[in-house]
Parts: sequence; C-alpha cells; structure tokens
Amino acid sequence: MKLRPWVKFTLGLIIISLVIFLGYKYYQKNNSVSTDLLKQYNISKSKASETLNYVLEHDAYDATYLDEYAKIKYLEQNNFLDVIKTFLPKEYTGEEINYILVLSNTNIAKLKDMDHQDLENYYQIKNFNVSNIERYNAYQDIHDYSYADVVTHVNINLDLPPYTNTNTVSDGDNTLVLVNKYNCLPKNYSPSDLDYISGTQGQTPMRKVAKEALEELQKAVKAEANFELLPTTAYRNYGFQNTLYNNYVAKDGVAAADTYSARPGCSEHQTGLAIDLKNPATPSTIRLTEENYDWLKNNAYRFGFIIRFPKDKEYITGYQEENWHIRYVGKDIAKIIYENNLTLEEYIDLYQTNY
Ligand SMILES: [Zn+2]
Repeated sequence: MKLRPWVKFTLGLIIISLVIFLGYKYYQKNNSVSTDLLKQYNISKSKASETLNYVLEHDAYDATYLDEYAKIKYLEQNNFLDVIKTFLPKEYTGEEINYILVLSNTNIAKLKDMDHQDLENYYQIKNFNVSNIERYNAYQDIHDYSYADVVTHVNINLDLPPYTNTNTVSDGDNTLVLVNKYNCLPKNYSPSDLDYISGTQGQTPMRKVAKEALEELQKAVKAEANFELLPTTAYRNYGFQNTLYNNYVAKDGVAAADTYSARPGCSEHQTGLAIDLKNPATPSTIRLTEENYDWLKNNAYRFGFIIRFPKDKEYITGYQEENWHIRYVGKDIAKIIYENNLTLEEYIDLYQTNY
C-alpha cells in the first residue's frame, strides 16, 4: 500500500504527539511524589498521586489508607488535610471524601460530630443540610420523590405537622420574608411604611413598595389586556386575621379552614406584601376570569409579584390554589420564581439559604 505524502505526514504528526503526551503523563505521575519519600515509606511508585504526595509532605500519611489517597482528588483548600485526617478514620472512602470536600464548612463541622453517614444519595444536592439527614431518610422511606425534592421538602419542614414548633419570624420588614404554617410573625408586628391604594372596599393598606409595583401592574393590565385589577384586601393585622380565621373555623371546622385560611400571625397578609385581587367587572362571586388569571400568572413577575398559592403546589404551600393572591418579592426574584416554576418556600431554600 502506497500512502500519499500528506497522509504520511499527518500520521507521523499524530504518532509523535501521542508519544509526547503519554510521556508527559508518565513523567507527571512519577514526579507528583518525591521518590525519596516513597522509598522512605516503602510505597510502590504505582500508588503515587497528588494527594498521597500532600499527606506525605505534611506528615499525615497512614498506610491503612494508601488506596484511598489515590481516589481523593487533590484540592487546594485550607481544610483539605483536616478533612482527610478526620473522615478516613470514620471509614469514609476516597469517593465519599471528594464529596465531603465540596460541602460547606458548616456542613463539614456537623458531619465531624456524627458517625459514618451514607451520603451517596445527596451528592450534588446544593441545599443538602447535614443536620436533616435522618429526616431526609425517614421522608424518603414514605414518599416517592427524588432525593433533591426530599431535601427541599424536609428543609422547609413538610415532614412535620404544620403549626407545631413554629419559628417566630424576626425579619418582618424584609421583602423576602417567609410567612407560612411553619413561620409566623409576632402578634405585634406591623409594617412601618404602610401606604394606601383604592380597592374594592375603599382605601386599602399595603407596604409602599407593593403599592408602587401594583400601580405599574394596573397600568400594564389596562393597556395590554384591557381589564382592571383592584385589591380587595392586602395588609391585615393580627387581630383582623384572628377574627377571620375563627369565623371560618366556626363555619367549616379547623381542618377545612386550615386549607384556605391562615391562623393569626401566620398570614402573609400581616406582612403588607400580599394582595388579594379582583376584576371589578366580574360578578361578586368571581374574582378573576380564566383569561384574567392567565394574564396575571404570566405577567405578575414583570412587576415584582408572584402567584403565591399556585395550582399543583398545594403540597408545598399547604393552601388550595388562590389565583388571585399575589405577593411582592421584587422583580429579579419574581422572575426566577416564575421561570423556574417555584414557590417562595422552594426559592428561599434553594437560592437564599446557605447550609
Ligand atoms: Zn390572600
């Protein structure tokens, strides 16, 4: 077979490159560990790795873990040696240690105080919280969700009965404040910057930021879809919610009332950032038509609002669908929540909490 000169040349070039590449790799492997140290500890050259070199140089070598060192990817970070020295004796494998190395310092500190945990199901889950691992496993046993969902659900306390051990919210003024069946405001909390806007029941109080955003939304809905949206209620104080909830309980019982009304202190309306809307042109029993809701669902985020209790998320929010209840969170965050089809609970856990 006769090859054309250019083919010969190309083949020759490929072979030469390959030889150089393999030679370099071989050189790199054998020079990642000082030969003297390998000899001194009587370690075969085939075990050489960057991590092994590091532990040898830092006087932290333990022959028991020789095979595990090769599996641990060397990372230039302050806690590298500490993690290796702590977790190898706890019977973690090299692969598991690679995962531990990328956990937060808080999670690593918590894990130090525990016996060996099976972490494999939680690799790559950003909002994994070591403190909740037993709850994750228990929740996974009885639910058919992915591990990522299990982590989020447990982090937002869905494995616990609502209204038990509720957390008292201390940052009521934060526009991202989370108020739900697990996080309730103090009885005396009220926003300091309430402002008023015309609603179906007259002047309606809400936080100033929410009012300004609602005015923008009202202009847009009129111009783009030619209907009006007015608030029915927005800010409601503790006492008002107390009366409202007790009336619902008297009418429907506690279990039913809890699916559509918040207990006092646990209503988002007390933040002044939640608004119930109505199209004034529809009959009194209908807040929004399907078309009205479609517009609101797909546009509210542009003005900084989210649909707080959407359909198909009842198991997360704990409330029946309320397509008229919007919540101000600010434009950037509302966009993320809208585009990723999240609830506020999920957003805060996934994007705002450091575990
Ligand atoms: Zn509402």
